[in-house]
Amino acid sequence: MQTQMMPPVLLQPALVLNSAYLPVSIVKAFEALCLVVTQKADIISGEENEPIRSQFLRFPLPRVIRLVGFSGMPSNPAWSRLKVLYRDDQTCAWCGTRRRIDDLDCDHIVPRSRWYECPRDLRRPYEVPASRLQNVYAPWNSWQNTVASCRPCNAKKGNRFHWELGLKLLWEPYEPEYVPSVVVSFDRARQLGWLDYLLNSRGKPISPSAVKVVALPPISRALKQQ
Ligand SMILES: [Zn+2]
Repeated sequence: MQTQMMPPVLLQPALVLNSAYLPVSIVKAFEALCLVVTQKADIISGEENEPIRSQFLRFPLPRVIRLVGFSGMPSNPAWSRLKVLYRDDQTCAWCGTRRRIDDLDCDHIVPRSRWYECPRDLRRPYEVPASRLQNVYAPWNSWQNTVASCRPCNAKKGNRFHWELGLKLLWEPYEPEYVPSVVVSFDRARQLGWLDYLLNSRGKPISPSAVKVVALPPISRALKQQ
């Protein structure tokens, strides 16, 4: 199924833990459900009042799942919008201003809406290699095609190609050698009920090499909110 045709609830994020309860990635609800239905994962936390129904099955909307047979950490963490902002050190790749995470967008250099209009050999350096495409077919979501962008630059660019506007990137986007497998903002993690799985009682990431909770509030505030 194309993601555009899916009910939005199935595109909501679910946190994936390994069998030792360490956070390893974030997937979409429908991917989490596929893992649950095929008995590769259990639902640890879900929204009972937003159930997902099929003819014979009924599941809560998964918020946190645990992989049954995987206790390691992923060796090649997947691309995500937030990881791009983190890779670019919260700096707009068009104008160079540094902003808060909330004031930045993840900008597609070759816009999604004009992907197929862009000649194939022009877009090739920007696309996800076929061998690396994940469950969702989105060749435009690559490390090479995405940069952090401030709102004014993103609005100015709109869905145009940057060469149409004479815009130049301040650096070439690249696939980072190291990136935490879970990058999430504090407020988003709290809203999704993930904090217990990401932070210890002192408000620090449980697995510092794998988790980056951006815009982390001072410890006193984190504790108060638990
Ligand atoms: Zn900018």
